[in-house]
Amino acid sequence: MESTLRRTWAETDLDAIEFNYKKIREHIGPDVKFLGVVKADAYGHGALQVSRLLEELGADYLAVSSIDEAMELRLNGITGIPVLILGHTPKEQVGRLIEYNITQAVTCRSKAVEYSEAATAAGGTLKIHIKVDTGMSRLGYLCEGRHYETGVEGICEACNMPGLDAEGIFTHFAVSDEPGEDAKEYTLKQLKLFTDVIAAVEAKLGRSFKLRHCANTGATVCYPEALLDMVRPGLLLYGYGEHAAQLGLKPAMTLKTTVSTIKTYDPGTRISYGGIYTTEKRTRMGVLPYGYADGFFRSLSNRYSVMTVEGPAPQRGKICMDMCMVDLTDKMKVDVGSEIEVFGPHNPIEKMAELAGTIPYELTCAVSKRVPRLYIRHGKVTEKELLLRM
Ligand SMILES: *Cc1c(COP(=O)(O)O)cnc(C)c1O
Repeated sequence: MESTLRRTWAETDLDAIEFNYKKIREHIGPDVKFLGVVKADAYGHGALQVSRLLEELGADYLAVSSIDEAMELRLNGITGIPVLILGHTPKEQVGRLIEYNITQAVTCRSKAVEYSEAATAAGGTLKIHIKVDTGMSRLGYLCEGRHYETGVEGICEACNMPGLDAEGIFTHFAVSDEPGEDAKEYTLKQLKLFTDVIAAVEAKLGRSFKLRHCANTGATVCYPEALLDMVRPGLLLYGYGEHAAQLGLKPAMTLKTTVSTIKTYDPGTRISYGGIYTTEKRTRMGVLPYGYADGFFRSLSNRYSVMTVEGPAPQRGKICMDMCMVDLTDKMKVDVGSEIEVFGPHNPIEKMAELAGTIPYELTCAVSKRVPRLYIRHGKVTEKELLLRM
């Protein structure tokens, strides 16, 4: 950290991720495979570091959202574990998918045709997982209601296309992580449609898929009937949210900053842009080098508290691009240079997410590239990383 001028950083606790991985493995049992979702730089935790760890721990699969994310893994030595691209890849890239042993989701007939043609032209075989839309209404072969027959037909057709090897089939749940009977009914309906489609396709083809998977975080914890051949959690692995709490998992990221400067203002002093906060008494105000360009949502202005060694310190006034102000009155142990926890084990990210009207996913993804990353393994900082173009 000494090498950077800014004094805000994110710690990814790889020990916590290992702990979570093992706990999830225990929960799903020995017969279910594990795919770790590492898209979006592993939800901001460092895709390379998390993927290396998962490969080392014996995870079965990784998933990313794009070919760029997949290539990042492959070009950095993560070659001993299959990688699935959940999103679309342009057909011009099929040669590279084959060359680097990357599995592609196939979401509709036109993509299947494109991929088949491109793979055949490249003289290779593209490994694919068929995506079924069972009610998420995003990507996937539509199979609901009147679309059932054409959906099943289309999937069978893709499985028989030259140049394609349909290793797996998957679907995605829309509300499996939400409480209540409605969510349960919807999820079980999605699951039933998914397993019906698989049965119909397998009967028609006279062979079965090696990997049938649908369980995201919510389903991995709450729907044992949805585990199938492989689970596909993201958030759970990183240890956030109620499902992680249910399994006793640990949050993997801690965002820390330090106090840059402290000034004491008289009562009646307006703080920051727009003057939305005015001191009521003599106020000892600290400046933190942490602003919305680091991922501190401006909508949280005047509403969030960071954690100091002497308890929570309320943030005051508008959050700026590079800085924010916090009230350190009566926190005399907190001085210039003192460490502050923005979120982490002592200041749960779930609370910040709720205040910001969002979910923990968005907050860890929002930690920007100028925030240096520290990686902790076996209790020690093993790697420091700055994502700026140096
Ligand atoms: C992101 C994603 C996941 C992981 O979701 P979590 O809620 O983080 O467990 C699983 N499957 C697909 C298709 C996804 O896009």
